[in-house]
Amino acid sequence: MARFAQDKLEELRERANIVEVVGTHVRLKRAGRNYVGLCPFHNEKTPSFSVNAERGFFHCFGCGAGGTVFDFVMRLEGLTFPEAVQSLARRYGVTLPETHEPGGPAPGEREAMYRANEFAAAFFSHVLWKTPAGEAVHGYLKSRAISDETAHAFGLGLAPAQAGVLANALKRRNLLEGAVKAGLVRSDGGAMRELFIGRLMFPIRNAQGRVAAFGGRVLDERLPKYINSPESPIYSKARNLYGLYEARQALARADRAIVVEGYFDAIAVSQAGFKEVVASLGTSLTVEQLRLLSRYTRNVIASFDGDEAGRKASMRALEVFLGAGLLGRGVFIPTGLDPDTLIQKRGAESFDELLKNSELLVDMFVTEEAKRGLSLQAPIEERLKAAQRIGQTLRLVPDELEFNALVSKTLNRLALGPREEKIIREQARSGGARTKPQGAAEGKSRLEAGTTAELGILGVAIIRPDLRPRILEIAPLESFDDEQLRALVAEACALPAAEDVPHQWLSERLSQEQRERLSALAMEATFDDPVNALKVLNDYVRALVKHRRTDRDIEALRREAVEAGDRDDATLKAQELIVLRRGITNDPA
Ligand SMILES: [Zn+2]
Repeated sequence: MARFAQDKLEELRERANIVEVVGTHVRLKRAGRNYVGLCPFHNEKTPSFSVNAERGFFHCFGCGAGGTVFDFVMRLEGLTFPEAVQSLARRYGVTLPETHEPGGPAPGEREAMYRANEFAAAFFSHVLWKTPAGEAVHGYLKSRAISDETAHAFGLGLAPAQAGVLANALKRRNLLEGAVKAGLVRSDGGAMRELFIGRLMFPIRNAQGRVAAFGGRVLDERLPKYINSPESPIYSKARNLYGLYEARQALARADRAIVVEGYFDAIAVSQAGFKEVVASLGTSLTVEQLRLLSRYTRNVIASFDGDEAGRKASMRALEVFLGAGLLGRGVFIPTGLDPDTLIQKRGAESFDELLKNSELLVDMFVTEEAKRGLSLQAPIEERLKAAQRIGQTLRLVPDELEFNALVSKTLNRLALGPREEKIIREQARSGGARTKPQGAAEGKSRLEAGTTAELGILGVAIIRPDLRPRILEIAPLESFDDEQLRALVAEACALPAAEDVPHQWLSERLSQEQRERLSALAMEATFDDPVNALKVLNDYVRALVKHRRTDRDIEALRREAVEAGDRDDATLKAQELIVLRRGITNDPA
């Protein structure tokens, strides 16, 4: 993970005021000490989304989303922590020194490539909208039913028909080197020649909105019809999705993603009102692409051709989905059409109808297996073989509950008995245990290990720096279950009261669920009052002790003190502990 200089990050955090950052996406109203608005992460009519400016946290009491300003950007734009930091740094003009990975591009090299691409995108757009050559293409867009508004939203452009125009413009701006590395221009026997000549241009933006690559389509009958920027340090087609940046907010809002194949499909589907659409850039879907999407939503619907080849492709996609920890659904576009032409010919409703009838890929797989002779009449060897194949595929289902549900569904659907169930389960277990979901499971077990009290004590250290010395006095850090939380509380309490706990510590060392729970605490008015805050702290400590200290521990402590010859201390300790225990017993929790 990229490291950032702590002071730079703190500078960024001060400048990137959470109310301002959130406020560009959510209409916020002041309500007491917090600001409230409609949550951008789930659909709601009454606001349950709060921001506490002073403490620097947001939290939604409807869907549980929460965290720091970095978490907000991560979730909204589907970024990792370092990406969110960089995105905010750019927006607020904070310079973060670029780290240099060994074997990777030199510092500044990636930036030069992005700059060249971004200049080119603006250049292509200018040619499309502001020149006579562009005017001729407007008719083409119209013939494909693409409105000007949509074309602008996707940043469409036109590469000049004449070679050298873009190269010269890039050269004048000192962007040629970056353009060569990004594959926009190549040296052709000494002369510079553009990759894209006389093509309709589709900028491919990464999740942060930077132009990572281009696709270009001919406007005549030349071949190849489409060409794309080559792979580069800033672009890999297996790890990018066309339209992701444009769709990112809709993905979260709709909690659904529609994956189509081509540029025009994505544009048409988006224009028809399904803004939550991305295109797979002409490759078959990859695990990386699906992981990228799953940052926004777990409900992914992929579109396939309605013919036999499409059915086969959907079955191959199932394994990719399962590999990314998703179940995945499929829609099948009637033969001879694609999402673009389907919407043009039959309207958005017919596409919506298809979406409504989308099928779980894994269900389809079971049905396919059933078709392959797996009926009650089929010979026993056939049935066992099919059970084996199903088990091998279900092996990839990471979630235990989902797995069990799918096994029983399969058994029911195919009228299978306990013998086949055994085979399915054995197959699923073979070849090393079923793959664990990446990230999610790890975060969960960490959360379970750390009790509410441990997290609460950390919350107090963050929200009430003045109580840090008190935490060190009364909180039994040694009995924390969660190592990470214990270390964080210790480090937080070692900070001077004037210093906030760095958000980087939270983003890098806590799970998302832990950060969400912390953010809920940060909305509490209880902590405004020092007496109340102390009371809450005492409650946490008591709850922690209740969990950790058995009567035997108490007795052991007392004996220890007696043996040390300090009778008074022993009595005191025993009394203290009795009081503590009473407090615990009175505690309804
Ligand atoms: Zn929400």
